[in-house]
Amino acid sequence: MNVIVIGHGMVGSQFVEDLLASDEHAHVTVLGREPTGPYNRVLLSSVVAGATDPSMLAMSAASGDRVRVLDGVAAVDIDRDARTVTDSRGDVHRYDRLVFATGSQARVPDIHGIATDRGLIPGVTVLKDLADATGIVKRIPKARRAVVLGAGVLGLEVATGLAARGIAVTLVHHSGRVMERQLGDAAANIATGSLAKLGVRVVTETSVAEALDRRGVLQSVRLTDGTQVLCDLLVMCAGTQPSTSLARRAGLPCERGIVVDDALASPADDRVFAIGDCAQPPEGGTGLVAQGWDQGSRLVALWTGRADAGRESDDDLTNVVRVKAQGLDLVTMGLSGKFDHGERELRAVRISDPAVGRFVEVVVSHGLLVGATVVGDKACAAELSAMYSRMTPVPPDPAHLIVRPLASAASAAVNTDPAQLGDDDTVCQCNTVSKGRICSAIDDGCASVDDVARATRAGTGCGDCRSVVAALIQSRDAAQAPSGDKVPALAGHGEG
Ligand SMILES: Cc1cc2nc3c(=O)[nH]c(=O)nc-3n(C[C@H](O)[C@H](O)[C@H](O)COP(=O)(O)OP(=O)(O)OC[C@H]3O[C@@H](n4cnc5c(N)ncnc54)[C@H](O)[C@@H]3O)c2cc1C
Repeated sequence: MNVIVIGHGMVGSQFVEDLLASDEHAHVTVLGREPTGPYNRVLLSSVVAGATDPSMLAMSAASGDRVRVLDGVAAVDIDRDARTVTDSRGDVHRYDRLVFATGSQARVPDIHGIATDRGLIPGVTVLKDLADATGIVKRIPKARRAVVLGAGVLGLEVATGLAARGIAVTLVHHSGRVMERQLGDAAANIATGSLAKLGVRVVTETSVAEALDRRGVLQSVRLTDGTQVLCDLLVMCAGTQPSTSLARRAGLPCERGIVVDDALASPADDRVFAIGDCAQPPEGGTGLVAQGWDQGSRLVALWTGRADAGRESDDDLTNVVRVKAQGLDLVTMGLSGKFDHGERELRAVRISDPAVGRFVEVVVSHGLLVGATVVGDKACAAELSAMYSRMTPVPPDPAHLIVRPLASAASAAVNTDPAQLGDDDTVCQCNTVSKGRICSAIDDGCASVDDVARATRAGTGCGDCRSVVAALIQSRDAAQAPSGDKVPALAGHGEG
């Protein structure tokens, strides 16, 4: 069976590895527009912040005599009658099955003056790929002021990252509050206060109307309210849209993304499939990597008759939003912000303490935590995330959920201590990897966090759980060490 995969990103690359390992008859050609092999796109904002070196992002790519990897080569045309794909070098490849894993692209708002025929002017950029991130990093030494457009999750990550590099940042947002999809007014105000302390000035209910340049290089922006803001850098974090143009040209049904059914196949052509950010499955696309990885392994399972062909990832797990920002702890899960109570019996309790930059809200229904928002309290966020993902029964009075962890940070440390986790507890939220799977990998010889990442993918998403993996390796080592040769245990960590 000849399979062509278009897109060698986070989802396409994992799919190819999985398919080759599971089906010895599969021969795969993978076309990737980007010149590098696959890399961890999730950590690009950490590269901008200077917390992660670009060399650390590389992900494994398939090799061997059943796979042809063409990096730096784009698919430009598809002939579905002839079952061929033409690439950017003019070569034609024949397929039995075709998989789109073309991801998404950054939305570029219609702003006067940001582009010429040659593309965006120097100083204006999006953050979608490694070239964008390294481009921003190159400008940082000479940049004194930056404007970040869009105060969603990525906007906050970029703004705090640039501020951590000593740049004065103005974060411009069209809505009345930051992260309006996840946060209500009180939580957003506290987050805005925390941003100000980090050197990020937030201006809301406005947008960038025009970029003004000097000799072709960005010098300032004019906002829709007429204000002019001096800046050497404008980073547009205005959302993404699935990359569908090639699929549309091939006559495949596309709405927001490439429409696929439960078997991830196009309703117009049962030889064509889509996974990852480019796909629009019946349950809708989340734009999060865990959903794409789940789709990839489901597709392999469906093709090979493997038992795990059902949809596995828990929607609620992909419903956890963490801002990966230096100096700002912000996590939401399930119901947060201005949610609709609907028919459900919900009890919501909150504390809001602007003086110390802390906001915690929990939402409980039928003895379970169904939503939470935590700003400025890492230990509490870790404990609530663990309860939420494990669906731990909670006390009848939701106030106890808030008061207890805040009253005793030590209790959070104990409850999220890796040693206390059950085998079924999820350690890596991004890849849905349980403690049990990680411990098996350690028992099978994985001696470092990178070994475990290669074997299980744990820690290859946002990276938050790498400290938990390290602690599990240490506790395994300690258990195997002769008595008197104890390895000190790490302190408790939040889950990743
Ligand atoms: C800065 C940033 C931070 C993020 N943070 C998080 C996070 O914290 N948690 C989370 O879950 N997700 C996060 N995401 C989203 C996550 O990166 C995506 O969900 C994930 O990368 C999707 O994988 P994919 O393979 O579908 O698409 P991608 O990784 O985008 O890969 C698609 C690839 O296909 C290539 N391609 C497109 N068209 C063609 C063509 N015609 N021919 C050949 N190649 C083509 C593209 O160049 C690209 O290399 C973040 C994204 C960004 C940019």
